[in-house]
Amino acid sequence: MNHNYDLFVIGAGSGGIRASRIAAGLGARVAVAEDKYLGGTCVNVGCVPKKFFVLGSHCADQFTNAAGYGWTVGNPRFDWRTLTTNVANEINRLNGVYDNILATAGVELIRGRATLVDAHTVKVGDNTYTAERILIAVGGWPVIPDIPGSEHIISSNEVFSLDKFPQRVIVVGGGYIAVEFAGIFNNLGSETHLLYRGDLFLRGFDRDIREFTAEEMAKKGVKLNFNASIIGIDQHSDGSLSATLADGRTLTTDVIMYAIGRKPDTANLGLENTRVQLDDNGAVVVNDDFSTHEPSVYAIGDVIDRVQLTPVALAEGMALARNLYGGQNRRVNYEFIPTAVFSQPNIATVGYNEEQAKEKYSSIAVYKSTFIPMKHKLGGLDERNLMKLIVDRATDRVVGAHMAAHDAGELIQGVSIAINAGATKADFDATIGIHPTVAEEFVTMREPSYIL
Ligand code: NDP
Repeated sequence: MNHNYDLFVIGAGSGGIRASRIAAGLGARVAVAEDKYLGGTCVNVGCVPKKFFVLGSHCADQFTNAAGYGWTVGNPRFDWRTLTTNVANEINRLNGVYDNILATAGVELIRGRATLVDAHTVKVGDNTYTAERILIAVGGWPVIPDIPGSEHIISSNEVFSLDKFPQRVIVVGGGYIAVEFAGIFNNLGSETHLLYRGDLFLRGFDRDIREFTAEEMAKKGVKLNFNASIIGIDQHSDGSLSATLADGRTLTTDVIMYAIGRKPDTANLGLENTRVQLDDNGAVVVNDDFSTHEPSVYAIGDVIDRVQLTPVALAEGMALARNLYGGQNRRVNYEFIPTAVFSQPNIATVGYNEEQAKEKYSSIAVYKSTFIPMKHKLGGLDERNLMKLIVDRATDRVVGAHMAAHDAGELIQGVSIAINAGATKADFDATIGIHPTVAEEFVTMREPSYIL
C-alpha cells in the first residue's frame, strides 16, 4: 500500500525528534505530530529549566565562599522574575532550534493531538494520515495524588512559571525531582520542607550516598521529613496553604509541589484501535527492538517506562531509526547508564550500588573517601564530598562509581566511559591523577575500605 509516510512519530520530545531526524536522514519520509511544545519535557519543563534553576541557586554558595577569597559581595538579593523570564526566553530559543532541526532534516511537523485510528492510520484534527510505521514517543506526565485539596498541588510542570517566589515550599517525594527542587528552593531562600513516605529518600541509589545527601541537605537547611505524607490541603484567604500530615502535624506553606513519579501519557491515544498492549502503569509494552504487539507500531522513551532519562530516550530513538532505515541491528545497553541528581551537592552514579553489587557478585571491594573539597577550605561553605568505587574482586572490574560533590555529573561522565569499557581497578590505579582536583580521588583510593 502507498502510505503518506514511512514513519509517523507521535510526540516531538527528545526521543521522537531524534528518531525522526535519524530516520529522515536515512531516506525515510517522516512526519512528527506534537500538541504541546517542541523538545518535550526535557527542554520545556524538565532537564533544561531545572538545570538553570540549579545553577541559579548555586550562586548562593558562591557568594558564601567569595568572602574567604577576599571578595566583598555586599548583600546579595535574588529576583525570581529575572530568573523565570530569562529561562523562559532561553526555552523559546530552543523551541525555535528544534523547529529548524526538523525542517532541515526534512521532517514534516504536524501541530495537534494525534490519535491512532488503526495500525497504519493517525488522525490529527480533521486530517488523517497513513504510515507504514507509527512510533509512539509521547512521554509521561506527573502523578498527582487524589487527596482532599489536591487542586492546590503543583507539579514540575508549573513550578518554572510561578508568578511569585514562594517564601515557603513543601516538596513531596523522594526521587530525582523532589530532591533537586528541595535543594533549589532552599538555596534560593525559601523555607523548604521535603516530605518522603519512607525511611530514607532516593531509593535505588547507593545507601551511603543517600545517607550522606540527607545529612548534607539537612545541614544546608532543608527540613527533611521522612515517613511523612499529606492527607489533606486547605487554602486560607491570603492564599497560603495548610498541609495536614498523617502524623497529625500541620505545615503552613505557599507552595506544595508533588514529585512522586511520572506516568506514561497513553490515555486517549486511540491505542484501543490497535493490538498495542499496556502494562499496569499504562506503559506501552515493547520488546528489545521497541516493537509493540502491533507489528507496525513502535514505542520509545518515557512512554515505555524503562529508564526515564533523556539520554536513554535519545539512544532508543537512534537505535530504532538506524535499525529500521539503516540496516543495522543495534540494541540499547541499559547496564551501565550514568546518571546525576542535581541536588546540593550533586549526586552522580554509574553502575551497581553496594547493595546490588553484593547480590550480583560473590565478593566485592568497596573504596570510599569523604573529604572537604579544597575550594571550601578558604571559602568556608560547610559541604563535604563522598566518593565510592565498587570492584568485583573476581575480575578486578570496577562495577560501580558513586559520588556526591559539586559538579559530580561532570566527573562521572568520564568515569562512565572507563566503566563501560570494562576498566579494572588496576586500570584506575595506573591512571595518573590531575592534582589538585576532586576527580583525582577516583584514581588514588588505594586500599579498600572493606571487603564484602
Ligand atoms: P522518581 O521515580 O525519581 O521518584 C518518585 C518518588 O516518589 C519516590 O521517592 C517514590 O517513593 C515517591 N512516590 C511514588 N509514589 C508515591 C505516592 N503515591 N505517594 C508518595 N510518594 C510516592 O520520580 P520523579 O517524579 O522525581 O521524577 C520522574 C522521573 O524523571 C525520574 O524517575 C527520573 O528518571 C526523571 N528525572 C531525571 C532527572 C535527572 O536525570 N537529573 C531529573 C528529574 C527527573 P518510593 O521510593 O518509596 O517508591
